[in-house]
Amino acid sequence: MKPYDYIIAGGGAAGLSLAWYLSQTAKSNARVLIIDKDKKQNNDRTWGFWHSDATTFEQIVSYQFKNLNFFSRYYNQKIPMGSHRYSVIRGIDFYNFIRSSLAAFPNFEFLTANIEKLDDQQDGAIAVTDQGTFSASWIFTSIFKENEIVAAAGSALYLRQHFKGWIIQTDEEVFNTDSFTMFDFRTPQQGAMRFFYVIPHSAKEALVEYTLFSEHLLPMADYDSAIKIYIDEVLKIKSYRIIDDEFGVIPMTNYHFPATQGRHIVQTGSAGGSSKPSSGYTFMRIQAHTRKVAEALAAGKSPVIPAVSPLRYRFYDAVLLNILKNDPEKAELLFSRMYQNNSVGRLFDFLDEKGGLTNDLSVITSLPPWPFLKSTGQLLVR
Ligand SMILES: Cc1cc2nc3c(=O)[nH]c(=O)nc-3n(C[C@H](O)[C@H](O)[C@H](O)COP(=O)(O)OP(=O)(O)OC[C@H]3O[C@@H](n4cnc5c(N)ncnc54)[C@H](O)[C@@H]3O)c2cc1C
Repeated sequence: MKPYDYIIAGGGAAGLSLAWYLSQTAKSNARVLIIDKDKKQNNDRTWGFWHSDATTFEQIVSYQFKNLNFFSRYYNQKIPMGSHRYSVIRGIDFYNFIRSSLAAFPNFEFLTANIEKLDDQQDGAIAVTDQGTFSASWIFTSIFKENEIVAAAGSALYLRQHFKGWIIQTDEEVFNTDSFTMFDFRTPQQGAMRFFYVIPHSAKEALVEYTLFSEHLLPMADYDSAIKIYIDEVLKIKSYRIIDDEFGVIPMTNYHFPATQGRHIVQTGSAGGSSKPSSGYTFMRIQAHTRKVAEALAAGKSPVIPAVSPLRYRFYDAVLLNILKNDPEKAELLFSRMYQNNSVGRLFDFLDEKGGLTNDLSVITSLPPWPFLKSTGQLLVR
C-alpha cells in the first residue's frame, strides 16, 4: 500500500488537534491516517482552561466563566478574571467537531485499531496494528505508557493528579453559574494536596470533582466518600442525583519527555511532555504544541519540536512539585497566598510561562519564602 504522509497514532486531544491544524495549513492535502483503538464516541473527559483571546474551538465551548472561587482556611474569595475567561469543552463535542470538520478532507482517514508497535525505519516509520501495518514519512504519537514513563523517569519527581468527579442534579437551585470553583480546600488534607473543583452547568447541575496531587491513587470508594461528604457538609446540598461521573490521572513530573522515538516518530500530548508539571493543565499546551508542529510541516521544516518549557519555568515547576511531594501540608497556604496576593492576569501569565521575569518575580515574592527555600535546598542536594 502507498505510504501515508503522516500517521497520527492516538486520536485524542493531541492527535485530533494536530489533524485539525494540519487541515488548516498548506498541508491540508497530505495523506493522513488517524489511528485510535477507541471510536471516541463517549464523553470520556471534559477540558477546562483559561484564555484571554478567543479560543480556536469557541463554537464547542459548553460553559464559560468570568469569575473563579477560591476557598481555604486562609482565603475565601470570588475573584473576577478580568480579560480572562475559563472555558469548558466536553470531550465528545471536541471529537465530533474534529471528525465532522475533517469529513471535508477525503485525504484524512480514520482507523479503529490497537497499535501494537511503532517502529522507526530508514525513510519513515511504521505502525503495527491488529488491523495491519501502515507506513508514513512521519508518525505523531500521543500513546502514553505510564509504566514505561515512570521507569524512564528514574529519579525525577513523579506525582499524579488524580481525580474523580460526579455530575449531580439537584432539586433546588443551588449553583451560581457566573463563577466556577478552581480550588476548594475544605476537605481534610491528610498528607497530600486535596481540593474540590466545581463546574456549574446550570443552577441545578454541576461537576463536583475531588482532586489530589500525590504519588499513589486511592481506592475508588475513597474518592466517592470524600465527594459525598463535601456535597453534604460543605455545599450543604440535601437532595441530588448523580447523572454521570469521570475519573482521570494526569502526570505531574519534571521528567524530560523525549521529543521523538527514533528519527521519524514524534511525541505529542501528555506523552510528549505537554502536561504542565505543577498543575496538570494540558489542553492549551497541546494546542500550542500541535499548532507549531503543523506549521513546521507546512513550512517544509522539521516537525521535531520539543514541548519543553523555558529553563526557569522548569525550575519553578520542580520546586513546587518537590513541595507537593515532601511538604504537601504547605500547599493550601501557598495556593491561598498565590491567589490572594496576585491579580488573576499576572498569575495566569506566570502559569502560562509568558509573563517575563518581572512578572515571575512578582508572583514568587508574593509567596511564603520558607517552603521554597527549603525545597530549592532539597533539589540542589538531590
Ligand atoms: C478525565 C480527564 C479530565 C481532564 N481534564 C483536563 C482539563 O480540564 N484541563 C486540561 O488542561 N487537561 C485536562 N486533562 C489532561 C489532558 O488534557 C487530557 O488527558 C488530554 O486528553 C491529553 O491528550 P493526549 O492526546 O495526550 O491523550 P488522550 O486524549 O488520552 O489521547 C490518546 C489517545 O491514544 C489512544 N490510544 C492509547 N493507546 C492506544 C493504542 N495502543 N492503540 C491505539 N490507540 C491508542 C487512546 O484511546 C486516546 O484516544 C484531563 C485528563 C483526563 C483523563
